[in-house]
Amino acid sequence: MYRIGGSSLGQAIQPAIFDGHNDVLLKLYRAGGASAVQGFVEGNAGAIDVPAAQAGGFAGGLFAVFVPSPMDLDEKFTEMTKDAYDLPLPDPIDWEDAFPIVMSQAAILFELEEQGALTICRSAAELRACLDAGKLAAVFHIEGAEAIDPDLNTLDVLYQAGLRSIGPVWSRKTIFGHGVPFRYPSTPDTGAGLTDHGLRLVKRCNVLGIMVDLSHLNEAGFWDVARHSAKPLVATHSNVHAICPHTRNLTDKQLAAIAESDGMVGLNFAVAFLRADGKMLPEVPLEQMIRHLDHLIETLGEDRVGFGSDYDGAIVPEPLQSCAGLPKLRAAMRQHGYDDALMTKLCHGNWLRVLEKTWGQ
Ligand SMILES: [Zn+2]
Repeated sequence: MYRIGGSSLGQAIQPAIFDGHNDVLLKLYRAGGASAVQGFVEGNAGAIDVPAAQAGGFAGGLFAVFVPSPMDLDEKFTEMTKDAYDLPLPDPIDWEDAFPIVMSQAAILFELEEQGALTICRSAAELRACLDAGKLAAVFHIEGAEAIDPDLNTLDVLYQAGLRSIGPVWSRKTIFGHGVPFRYPSTPDTGAGLTDHGLRLVKRCNVLGIMVDLSHLNEAGFWDVARHSAKPLVATHSNVHAICPHTRNLTDKQLAAIAESDGMVGLNFAVAFLRADGKMLPEVPLEQMIRHLDHLIETLGEDRVGFGSDYDGAIVPEPLQSCAGLPKLRAAMRQHGYDDALMTKLCHGNWLRVLEKTWGQ
């Protein structure tokens, strides 16, 4: 087991890693929903399950509820192995279609808790207690706000059910705004930003204490949130545009705004956002991840960088195929010269700090 303060554990699985983004709920939804939960408890060969988390010192993270677009993922990933690519934005998804899928995936999250696989954390205090107890911690997140109605009634209800983080868009238009297409090379400045509904969503999230996730917003949407949100700016799973000029990555100007707001960025393990050539190919040395971390630390400061693995939703570097491989990442970070204090901040300390500041409790 992993414990934040435990001393009996080896360096390999400490500090515990709390992570800004995974797609476990989508994986289990596709695998049959509640019937797949047992596989997660016993180990189901995905990137994250309970045994792998214990083996790798993966302490939990933001568990995304995500409505998938009807697209051929293999075709998409093949297109993204080319020197340059520009995938069209998937069609919008109506509220009526999105809502039942969001309910199904949220129900899987609750089932996971009922089966004892994890604890859903609704405050920073609950999160700290959960990590300290060595229990897998889950924050209920929604990636793409298709299931939220224009009056935001569903947002209020989902907050009461435990929702603590939301991205107004995935890379697909919603009534709240426009997402970035998967395009390389490209700036993130790909079109219009948030709509009036989107601005109201941001304000309501501020009032309730729901984090607004900047990952997948285009640059105009990013600046709309920056102007209208009173909370720290957070991109849960995005990388450095200066190293990999992909639409999904953040420019130095965006990083400066995140630093100024005292927000943070979670490093995305998805290979297309790590590699300088933007290709969706798994041969990525861990040093390439360190390069992104160094740049993030340089521009944001040590207190504003963490992880956002995208596990179970992306192709990730070979050595980190499962979260059981995370000791290799810790070893590479230490080898690079990150000291214990910095390791703790990057692995979970910064997420705890920013979530506490955002939620206000
Ligand atoms: Zn994503």
